[in-house]
Amino acid sequence: MTNKQLLQITEQFGSPVYVYDASKIKNQFQRLTGAFSNVSSLKLNYAVKANSNISILKYMNRLGSGLDTVSIQEVKLGLFAGFKPEDIIFTPNGVSLQEIEEASALGVQINIDNLSILEQFGSLHPDVPICIRINPHVMAGGNSKISVGHIDSKFGISIHQIPHILRIVENTKMRINGIHMHTGSDILDIDVFLYASEILFETAKNFDQLEFIDFGSGFKVPYKVGDIQTNIEELGKKLSSRFNEFCKEYGRELTLGFEPGKFLVSEAGKFLVQVNVVKQTTSTVFAGVDSGFNHLIRPMLYGSEHHIHNISNPDARERFYSVVGYICETDTFGSNRRIAEIKEGDTLCFENAGAYCASMASNYNSRFRPAEVLWLNGKAHLIRKADNFEDLIKNQVNYDSIFDSNEKLKVSSK
Ligand SMILES: *Cc1c(COP(=O)(O)O)cnc(C)c1O
Repeated sequence: MTNKQLLQITEQFGSPVYVYDASKIKNQFQRLTGAFSNVSSLKLNYAVKANSNISILKYMNRLGSGLDTVSIQEVKLGLFAGFKPEDIIFTPNGVSLQEIEEASALGVQINIDNLSILEQFGSLHPDVPICIRINPHVMAGGNSKISVGHIDSKFGISIHQIPHILRIVENTKMRINGIHMHTGSDILDIDVFLYASEILFETAKNFDQLEFIDFGSGFKVPYKVGDIQTNIEELGKKLSSRFNEFCKEYGRELTLGFEPGKFLVSEAGKFLVQVNVVKQTTSTVFAGVDSGFNHLIRPMLYGSEHHIHNISNPDARERFYSVVGYICETDTFGSNRRIAEIKEGDTLCFENAGAYCASMASNYNSRFRPAEVLWLNGKAHLIRKADNFEDLIKNQVNYDSIFDSNEKLKVSSK
């Protein structure tokens, strides 16, 4: 997309606004399927939580993706978007037995990640095939905030508890049709990932009715220049051949599954904001924009570095800026960034805004969540309106009736 096209979108739909380029999503989807073209059965389940806009889900459906869901609401959203129940896997953490039963009744594949629920569910519904989420205790990335495979992680059943799993399976007569792992969000080192995969293969040998092995996600995409990214092509080559070898050993063709979120949608997204004020202090030049962590929280929550550039004046001389939001808290998007000279009213563009951005937006400071636009075949389509005042108040009730009109609540200062 050109800067001119992006600026037109802010003129048409206002600022701030999220823009997703469908062709980029398709590209990434094809890269992944291409990298694993040597396995006889590949299943990609897009992780809904990365970006749960219904139009994005429908687009994924058209590409041939399934869905990975983490709440009953995401399951229902997926069904609403037209996915068949068998194309949805439910991989929750810390949810109630009731919620899992509700999802199961809708016909989706259930993935269980703790022994207590495994035993309860297996006793009540021995006929429902279940996938088990394993914690292989492998740290995928260096950042402990996003690595979920390590020893004291709340995710998955420890490989050291496999004897417990087997006892539950034997006692309940339940059927295990899948084995799953999701070690975190940063596969920097393919060998580490392959090492975790070996643990999964070893685990899989304990179960003789498997249909699939799900390797989760954690594909890293570049955020800034020089970032390491997962070499999908190399991973595809190495894991495919190892997977095919395992299937021979196992004696049956299994499906190889992945649940990419960020990989499919991160780079497709741009977040466009307008500069309200340029503020020169003694040490820093701040560019204050019409947004904050209510719209894009990743820099503040995870320390993510989203590349920011000035699309109103891209060729101007670069200067150093700290780009900050309008929320009454510290909400720094980027410190000391080199950006083409910013004037008030300019539009800045944040890169990598397709994953975990709009889906994490809130109404904090009573601000409206922004609009979302899908760029498809050279045309901009509005896929979510910005909130309005009605959205802020629609769930608040009884403020007209709970206070007795005669009662004076004023506290005297004396
Ligand atoms: C969040 C999540 C994913 C997607 O992770 P990305 O890093 O966005 O690819 C996949 N599987 C499970 C179980 C998840 O919770």
